[in-house]
Amino acid sequence: MSVTSTLLWRDSLPAADAFCTRHVGPDDRDVAAMLGVIGAGSLDDLMEQTVPSAIRLRGDMGLGAGVSEPEVLRRLRAIAGRNRVMISLIGQGYYGTVLPGVIQRNVLENPAWYTAYTPYQPEISQGRLEALLNFQTLVTDLTGLDVANASLLDEATAAAEAMALARRVARSKADGFFVDADCHPQTLAVLRTRAEPMGWRIIVGDPDTDLDADAVFGALFQYPGTSGRIRDPRGWVERLHAAQAVVAMAADPLALTVLEPPGTLGADIAIGSMQRYGMPMGAGGPHAAYMAVRDAFKRNMPGRLVGVSIDSRSEPAYRLALQTREQHIRREKATSNICTAQVLPAVISSMYAVYHGPDGLTAIARRIHRLTAILAAGLRALAVRVETDAVFDTLTVATGGESTLVRDRAEAAGMNVRVVDAGRIGISLDETTTPDIVRAIWRCFCPDAQRVEEMERTLAAPADLLPPALRRTGTFLTHPVFHAHRSETDLLRYLRRLSDRDLALDRSMIPLGSCTMKLNATVEMMPVTWPEFCDIHPFAPAAQQAGYTELFADLERMLRAISGYDAVSLQPNSGAQGEYAGLLAIRGYHRARGEAGRDVCLIPASAHGTNPASAQMAGMRVVVVACDGQGNVDIADLRAKIARHADRLAAIMITYPSTHGVFEESVVEICDLVHAAGGQVYLDGANMNAQVGLARPGAFGADVSHFNLHKTFCIPHGGGGPGMGPIGVGAHLAPFLPGRPEDGGVNAVSAAPFGSAAVLPISWTYMVLMGDAGLRRATEVAILNSNYVAARLADHYPVLYRGANGRVAHECIIDLRPIKEATGITVDDIAKRLIDHGFHAPTVSFPVAGTFMIEPTESEGRRELDRFCDAMIAIRDEIREVEGGVLTAEQSPLRHAPHTVRDLTDPAWERAYDRQRGCLPGDVAAVSKYWSPVNRLDNAYGDRNLVCSCPDMASYAEGAAVQPS
Ligand SMILES: *Cc1c(COP(=O)(O)O)cnc(C)c1O
Repeated sequence: MSVTSTLLWRDSLPAADAFCTRHVGPDDRDVAAMLGVIGAGSLDDLMEQTVPSAIRLRGDMGLGAGVSEPEVLRRLRAIAGRNRVMISLIGQGYYGTVLPGVIQRNVLENPAWYTAYTPYQPEISQGRLEALLNFQTLVTDLTGLDVANASLLDEATAAAEAMALARRVARSKADGFFVDADCHPQTLAVLRTRAEPMGWRIIVGDPDTDLDADAVFGALFQYPGTSGRIRDPRGWVERLHAAQAVVAMAADPLALTVLEPPGTLGADIAIGSMQRYGMPMGAGGPHAAYMAVRDAFKRNMPGRLVGVSIDSRSEPAYRLALQTREQHIRREKATSNICTAQVLPAVISSMYAVYHGPDGLTAIARRIHRLTAILAAGLRALAVRVETDAVFDTLTVATGGESTLVRDRAEAAGMNVRVVDAGRIGISLDETTTPDIVRAIWRCFCPDAQRVEEMERTLAAPADLLPPALRRTGTFLTHPVFHAHRSETDLLRYLRRLSDRDLALDRSMIPLGSCTMKLNATVEMMPVTWPEFCDIHPFAPAAQQAGYTELFADLERMLRAISGYDAVSLQPNSGAQGEYAGLLAIRGYHRARGEAGRDVCLIPASAHGTNPASAQMAGMRVVVVACDGQGNVDIADLRAKIARHADRLAAIMITYPSTHGVFEESVVEICDLVHAAGGQVYLDGANMNAQVGLARPGAFGADVSHFNLHKTFCIPHGGGGPGMGPIGVGAHLAPFLPGRPEDGGVNAVSAAPFGSAAVLPISWTYMVLMGDAGLRRATEVAILNSNYVAARLADHYPVLYRGANGRVAHECIIDLRPIKEATGITVDDIAKRLIDHGFHAPTVSFPVAGTFMIEPTESEGRRELDRFCDAMIAIRDEIREVEGGVLTAEQSPLRHAPHTVRDLTDPAWERAYDRQRGCLPGDVAAVSKYWSPVNRLDNAYGDRNLVCSCPDMASYAEGAAVQPS
């Protein structure tokens, strides 16, 4: 551009970095004022004081400038346009489905649902907990089993979890696990990955001929099989049970509306994918997998379980049950490493069932089956051999060696079929299939249109193809919730009623340490529901996914630039799965170098529970390293542990900045010590929000990290999922990254090659909008905000850990233990009192019991930070009343929090404080206040009286759930 034209266009171009000022809460004036409060001269000074200079990135990351919202959408449209949406008949676990608009707009595209956090604070999560209880009820009814969890990551990992569960509960001492050869290939790949480090033998075969029940502790059958074939498993089940082995079935939940459920057939565990209950294929996800088990196994079941309990007024209320099974508490002895699961997709699937009801679902299934029967009859009439007789929606068809020809004809007609081998193809019909599609399939086998027409005219209505012995008898989904919301008006209001009960980011900040509840910008969410991204089958030909390929490559490039690693895998579906994939890469590396004996994984005492749980799954022995009084890794103890395990050392897992919210000065030394002993460094990247643009783990000594895209990179939490946990690795680990699951790739950890592909555009959009400078600014302000909160609260609550210059990183821990000791007021009392002020509590008792970990993120502006600090200080004043003997802890409003409308209207108010103060503390406005729908939950009651499906009709009708409230 010439000098003149630069002058000409000055001040007339859109500001490239404008989005950054929308993403980051505080503006320049606020930043200056906040720097004043914490006593730092500038953001640069603060960074110098906070981030150790040994690891500091000087220079930029090479991402270029940020772009505007219209520009990012233009680029996204161009990328999306390079994907080709086809009619998918591939099946193999992924099917076309119709997501009702009312659910798409009001759940999937609604921040009240998608920005919520995992329901660990049950009082503010009653809406999504009810939806998840509906999900569990749906799954138990469909599968005929007793207890279902609230979702797993995908069908393949659910199968691996079923295998691990079978090992925990089976009385058989055998080391084999039998896998029906008619399972989906991606399921088999993930089972192989999971079995190998545990020393379990995978035996694949035809159950009729190859099943040796005495050689296995469990077995998995697919129902219907990946070929479409439906077989009666009862004979196999009997033999397995006689040998004390456990039976799992992978079942299609739509087929289960017309087929006998696994529970009735004798299965102990059922797993599967709820994708076709309304969730788009999304090139592989996100989708909710389900797991249901017999009552006897419920305490061994992985994943979250929603249960019914009561609140302090003995009103029914929902909560997460049996949390002591989970990695947060059980660590390497946990039932699995699952933390983030698939809550939003589970909610959507449950609402799909609420909308259609049992009769609607059955009608959808029957229509698909009818079309399948007609398709099969027509093919046979055209002298095409259909290899499968008893089927639901999928046919395996002989092509006489011409599979490629048939596939090409299908593609020319806009359809994808599954090429099984040179002589067979698979065809799966779904909710979107029409008679025209069936005709088009016929023509792929018989291009003579006239002959096909003739055949159709003379074709007699075929009989149905469900095996008579396996037809579903009995009713299901009898609960009123599956009958009461069948008009759009009713469903709309039900959705609104539930979301109104929850506190999500659309109402207030959620200062959860380690969870990075930052802005999920609307523009970032928009591409998720574009057909070019969500209507792609994960195993569609690469040429049809050119847009995704480009977007993934660009996303990988940006993640490499940000992290300093050499290679990235986008496959893991959560941070915990990233840990698992990363540790498997380390395991593969050691074995390839003839050092298979390296199996010790050092983990600091302060680590997140997923770390030890993942290490256990990767076949490693966990050895805990102590932390010192400052919350840093105790270097002396680290040296001692390294010396003790030297030639068995596989890895260390550290979190950086540490879970204590501090940039440890010694991180480079830790990496050096571990490397010198032949170990590898896994750096848990959950805290990348403190590093982006300032430090790069791949450059300062780590070998592998996962990135929680649902934390630092703006994928919303969805109430507990979906997430994505891609990993970055050094070049030496790249050969051991997860392979493609559908091709039996080694180390595959998800069912689909790019995990939950459909949410990856969110993170891409964020990074492109922000650019180099914007991302660095976000990190700097995240650190500023956390230091600001620490400074404002320091006179009221001690800040537990600080770095070398008295600074905290992007989060800080405040110590509430002295308060408990002096007054009896607990962390829970304070957490619940925050609800009365309209806030979600910070992270409670992690990584240190009796503390809060506060992470404000860069997205919160000064006003919201002040509102939060004011609330915390007002609460401190209430604690002082207890300290001063004005009230006892039991009399204090803290103990009775959260306050509800029932408290406000209670005719018998006999508290030591007045209603106004209890219900409307500080300057909370009655009109805009968030009212907790229930009083404090009784957790012990819920675990003692476990109810994990919708309460029976009587109690339900009395409750608020059916009646508008
Ligand atoms: C969130 C988190 C994880 C686990 O990530 P998920 O995506 O929930 O599986 C692991 N480590 C740390 C430090 C975390 O904060």
